Amino acid sequence: MAIYDISLTISPGLPVWPGDPAIQLQQVSFMDKGDVCNVSYLAMGVHAGTHVDAPHHFLNDNRTVENLDLTVMTGQAFLIEFGNEVNAISFEILDRASIPMGVERLLIKTRNSEIWARSEKKFTEKFVAIVQDGAEWLVQRGIKLVGVDYLSVAPFGEGVPTHRVLLEAGIVALEGLNLSSVSQGYYELYCLPLKLKGADGAPARVILKK
Ligand SMILES: [Zn+2]
Repeated sequence: MAIYDISLTISPGLPVWPGDPAIQLQQVSFMDKGDVCNVSYLAMGVHAGTHVDAPHHFLNDNRTVENLDLTVMTGQAFLIEFGNEVNAISFEILDRASIPMGVERLLIKTRNSEIWARSEKKFTEKFVAIVQDGAEWLVQRGIKLVGVDYLSVAPFGEGVPTHRVLLEAGIVALEGLNLSSVSQGYYELYCLPLKLKGADGAPARVILKK
């Protein structure tokens, strides 16, 4: 049984969405200086690193992250891998891909994962994302959770349509995965977001078991 950690490592060097708060993670109590223990302080936006979006993020409907269904975020998932030539996840691209019928949790690996493999520190606007008709394909296919390997399911500057289609359908959007160490196939997904009261999203530790 292999375990793959597909979460990003949270550190101040991790790129965040433009305009979101920077990640602060710093030690505030030091045994090296005579304190009784080491203690660190963390401050970050809830959409930093690997995280899930709750419907409240784009729908303002008070369906918040602590109430997301854990049975959707754990269970069998299929990872589909697209080559470097794919620049947008559209209806046509998804329809042509060999995604088995009956898949409810779909993880989409693209060239984005190479950004994490290279530990790039700078945010890029040119990531591969799901366009609106791609989101509509996911709804039609009965997908309940979709995972992507950059910080948004939607293309830069076009956030609203894709998010609305997915979140209105109750699809959990899992963003900021590092899929560089895994390839196409079935896995057991464990995605456990922090239980943040009233929040529109939450960081998550996400692993795959094979
Ligand atoms: Zn998000």
